[in-house]
Amino acid sequence: MARYLEASCKLCRREGTKLYLKGDRCYSEKCSFTRKGYPPGQHGRRRQKVSEFGLQLREKQKARRIYGILERQFKRYFKEAERRKGITGEILLQMLESRLDNMVYRIGLARSRADARQLIRHGHFLVNDHKVNIPSYLTKPGDVISVREKSRKSPFFKEMAEWGAGQGTVSWLEVDREKMSGKIIRFPSRDELDVPIAEHLIVELYSR
Ligand code: SF4
Repeated sequence: MARYLEASCKLCRREGTKLYLKGDRCYSEKCSFTRKGYPPGQHGRRRQKVSEFGLQLREKQKARRIYGILERQFKRYFKEAERRKGITGEILLQMLESRLDNMVYRIGLARSRADARQLIRHGHFLVNDHKVNIPSYLTKPGDVISVREKSRKSPFFKEMAEWGAGQGTVSWLEVDREKMSGKIIRFPSRDELDVPIAEHLIVELYSR
């Protein structure tokens, strides 16, 4: 399966914002972006004039990197968002949010979306009591995501439960920490999402 191989911290520095790709490290003083908040590379500290196209492109790259999606799949999400009724940018974000790896992360069962992807591939999660090992699986309101009974007893998930208890929850999910599960109540509206993405720039980019 194709995936990003570039160092995560470089991506944050390239996009000029924290993308929170490395779990706890992102909140610690070890965060590269906190220490070196300029783009990587020899000319990273140079001031560069960015064109309108450049701004739109960076916004799309940022969104892809936050959710860990490759170009082709991202474009597919956009095409589908464009086809649906409503505000394309908002629908695109809702689709990205509805991915199983994102939901596992939002419920607090993984420290980052990348960790969530790996755990899902290893078969630790159920959606409506059925095993799903596809990180890009699109969930919908009413779905219940839970940790498989056998996995729940492992030291790793016991530790995750303790970690998750210290995390906040989002309003569109109903989280049951004891059962290590979460139910999707509804898709979030744009103002409920904390992702630093100007989605209108992505719409403009693909509408060129
Ligand atoms: Fe980005 Fe900092 Fe996390 Fe690295 S540690 S992925 S620079 S937020």
